Amino acid sequence: TTHLVWFRADLRLHDNLALAAACRDSGAKVIGLFIATPEQWQAHGVAPRQAWFIRQHLHALREALSRRGIPLYTAQVDDFDACIPCIASFCDEHRVDALFYNYQYELNERKRDVALEKHLDGFVTCQGFDDSVVLAPGSVLTGNREMYKVFTPFSRAWLKRLDEGLPECVHAPKVRQHAPCEAPALAAFDYPQEPADETLFPVGEEAALAQLRRFCQNGAGEYETQRDFPAVDGTSRVSPYLAIGVLSPRQCLHRLLAEQPRTLDGGPGAVWLNELIWREFYKHLMTFYPALCRYQPFIGWTKNVAWSDDEAHFTAWCEGRTGYPIVDAAMMQMNQTGWMHNRLRMITASFLVKDLLIDWRRGERYFMSQLLDGDFAANNGGWQWAASTGTDAAPYFRIFNPTTQGERFDAAGEFIRRWIPALSSVPDKALHDPWRWADKQGVTLDYPRPIVDHKQARVATLAAYEAARKS
Ligand code: FAD
Repeated sequence: TTHLVWFRADLRLHDNLALAAACRDSGAKVIGLFIATPEQWQAHGVAPRQAWFIRQHLHALREALSRRGIPLYTAQVDDFDACIPCIASFCDEHRVDALFYNYQYELNERKRDVALEKHLDGFVTCQGFDDSVVLAPGSVLTGNREMYKVFTPFSRAWLKRLDEGLPECVHAPKVRQHAPCEAPALAAFDYPQEPADETLFPVGEEAALAQLRRFCQNGAGEYETQRDFPAVDGTSRVSPYLAIGVLSPRQCLHRLLAEQPRTLDGGPGAVWLNELIWREFYKHLMTFYPALCRYQPFIGWTKNVAWSDDEAHFTAWCEGRTGYPIVDAAMMQMNQTGWMHNRLRMITASFLVKDLLIDWRRGERYFMSQLLDGDFAANNGGWQWAASTGTDAAPYFRIFNPTTQGERFDAAGEFIRRWIPALSSVPDKALHDPWRWADKQGVTLDYPRPIVDHKQARVATLAAYEAARKS
């Protein structure tokens, strides 16, 4: 018998449920396949950096699998529709009996998988796995068997489910007969690719696991007090690996519990676990509310907000030239590295929507085009949170003040100075509103003046949201 593992967002050897299941029968021949879909990626706005990261990990996975006697084939077709005939003919050619894959919960991905299973019905047995979450969507529900719309009760129910049994990690496949095998050449991807900084995000499963271990040993205990300060290396930075499945959330959970044994009693580690639960919350929500994948807001009336179409404002935001240092430094960090600190994602998203009154979906798309860790559910959830259009989102009248946010979370301006050298000589206290200081001193800065006045923008935004709510 021949077993095919269709790799998608699960580019790893360890704790890969589909791969492990395909390898369980030691007599079966196991082969892997990855299909690049450039037009689909284009439509989904996948960042060239993430495409590059995927390709680097395919190289690594291909080597690791061939050492174990599993050839990984790659192919390229236009889009998800074209994956179906591609897999069908691949199954034919390789006489595949069973197909193993890990679920993806986004709408187009789910439609593709349903169509594929229908197409292969009667020829190839298909088995899907809930691999990219600790607990499967649909397994954490209210008493009325509905999806939670608020995070805190969801997280409580999630933890209770965990008490009933901790999902274990599965082993990497054993070396199979005829190992090592030849690794098939990697097909070209006709998609723009941009290398990411490997000193920040080294390529490979081993490197990702090492980063996770280091953080769980040294950072997870202090996460609660460190996580809000972008100048501090206080968060795990494992998001790029989770997004393309080089790490699994079960590995994160088990490593955390091993290093921080009091996590489940609310001890050190619990706050980091809470972030992993947010990740699951958004994935579950997206499964229950497919409209989220169609760029619909969760709160209906927010569709009526009269968004601004000021292109100069949008470009200034994208390029980090708003005149608000914390916003601009954050955008520089993302534009240059593909990663942005969570506190800054909240500040920059809030600024685009609540200070510039620009449609959150434009920001969501721009983030996706830059992020190495671009993940539809987390990104959409984060944007809808910041824009007050989502479930359990910030209320629309809560508007971050970008100047005081900077003062609170980058008091000495260490982060700002790192990304905006033109402000390096401005004193700490003046750094968050540098022109006020510069004008008093008679100094000219090589830095833009604020493109909007926060107080006025706040009033206009409140009025726009209130008008939308009443309409
Ligand atoms: P840590 O703080 O160490 O957290 C550990 C892991 O938990 C993260 O790697 C991530 O997988 C998950 N996580 C943490 N916070 C959140 C959250 N609020 N929602 C969902 N999952 C979370 N995260 C992405 O992975 N991809 C995105 O495209 C993305 N876009 C975002 C857009 C906005 C506007 C906002 C406000 C948040 C977004 N996030 C996104 C969530 C969060 O900012 C990042 O997951 C986090 O900054 C990644 O850094 P880390 O790995 O050091 O996180």
